[in-house]
Amino acid sequence: MREFGYQRAHDINGAVSLLAADPDARYLGGGTNLVDLMKTGVERPALLVDVRELPLDRVEPTADGGLRIGATVTNSDLAVHPEVRRNYPALTQALLAGASGQLRNMATVGGNLLQRTRCGYFTDLSQPCNKRAPGTGCPAVTGEHHNHAVLGASDHCVAVHPSDMGVALTAFDAVVSYESAEGPGEVPLSDFYLPVGDTPHRETALPAGALITHVTLPAAPVAARSRYRKVRERASYAFAIGSVAAALTVEDGRVREARLALGAVASRPWRARAAEAVLVGAPADGATFAAAADAELAAARPLPHNGYKVTLMRNLVVSVLTELAGEDAR
Ligand SMILES: Cc1cc2nc3c(=O)[nH]c(=O)nc-3n(C[C@H](O)[C@H](O)[C@H](O)COP(=O)(O)OP(=O)(O)OC[C@H]3O[C@@H](n4cnc5c(N)ncnc54)[C@H](O)[C@@H]3O)c2cc1C
Ligand code: SF4
Repeated sequence: MREFGYQRAHDINGAVSLLAADPDARYLGGGTNLVDLMKTGVERPALLVDVRELPLDRVEPTADGGLRIGATVTNSDLAVHPEVRRNYPALTQALLAGASGQLRNMATVGGNLLQRTRCGYFTDLSQPCNKRAPGTGCPAVTGEHHNHAVLGASDHCVAVHPSDMGVALTAFDAVVSYESAEGPGEVPLSDFYLPVGDTPHRETALPAGALITHVTLPAAPVAARSRYRKVRERASYAFAIGSVAAALTVEDGRVREARLALGAVASRPWRARAAEAVLVGAPADGATFAAAADAELAAARPLPHNGYKVTLMRNLVVSVLTELAGEDAR
C-alpha cells in the first residue's frame, strides 16, 4: 500500500480546501470501500481527509415535509430513523439489506453513493479495465459478466452500481448537495451518475474535489407505502443481482401514483420512468404490472451470460407491485 497522510477535517471549507490543494487527496467516510481499494492498489491517495467529525451527522425535517440527511449519517442510523421508517420504508429496507451490521455502523451516506463497482476486473490490477485505466479495454464484455448491466451500458463498460440505498433514494427523487472550491451546488440523484458512454472512468457529476454535504428527500406521501426487494445469491452479506424499490397509491382500482427504481441492472440506480408511465391511471392488476415491467425492460441489452436478469427483473417488478397493490386494497 502506498504511504499516505491522514487529516481529520473539522469544518466543511477546510475539508474542501485540502482536496483542492491536492488532487491525490480523498475524503474518508467509514472507509469500508476506500480502504479495501487502497489495500489492493486500485486507489492510491496521498492524503485521506476524514470527514466523520464534520457537522453533517443529522437527519432533519425540511419545511415541505421531506428530510435532509447529512452525508456522514451512518447507514445504521439512517435505517432506524423514525421518520425514514414511517415515511420512506423502502429506504430502511434497502439499507438493512446492504452489507452487514458492522459495515452499516461504519458506512456513511456520502460514501455509499460513491462506492465503486464490484466488477472483478476493476479490482484486479493484472487485468485491463476502462474504468480503472481508461483505454485499456473491457474484458467483462466477453468474459465474466453474469452480474453485469443489462440497461444503459456500452461496449466500454458493463459494470453495475452496487448500492442498495441509492436505489430507494432514486425512486424518491433525492437531491445531492455538495460544497466545492467553486462554491455549493446540488444535483438530482437521477442525474448524479453520468451515462457510461466511452468514459466509464468519469462516474459522477460532482466537480473535482467536491464534498457531498447532504441528501434531501422531498416530501412524497406515496413513499409511505413503499417496498425494497433484493435478490442475491445467498441470503445475507451479498450484493444484489437485481433489486426493486417501489411505491404505489391505488384509488378505485387504478394506480394513482407510482415510483419505481431498479438496482444491479445498470451503472447507476435505474429510475424506471417508462414503467411508471404505463402504471399511472391503469388498472392496478397483474396485466398492468407486467406491461410496465416490459416497457422498461424493452431497452435491455443483455450479454450472453446475464440474460436471466431480464426475466428476474420482470418477475421482481410484478411481484413487488402486486404486493403493494394488495396492501393498498386492504
Ligand atoms: C463485504 C462488504 C459487503 C457489502 N455489501 C453491500 C451491499 O450488499 N449493498 C450495498 O449497498 N453496499 C454494500 N457494501 C458497500 C458498503 O455499503 C460501502 O462500502 C459503504 O456504503 C461506503 O461508505 P463509506 O462511508 O465506508 O465510504 P468510504 O469507503 O469512506 O468512501 C467511499 C468513496 O466515497 C468518497 N466519499 C466518502 N464520503 C464522501 C463525501 N461526504 N463527499 C465526497 N466523497 C466522499 C471517498 O473518497 C471514496 O471515494 C459492502 C461492503 C463490503 C466491504
Ligand atoms: S465492466 Fe467496467 S469495471 Fe468491469 S472490466 Fe469492464 S470497464 Fe472495467
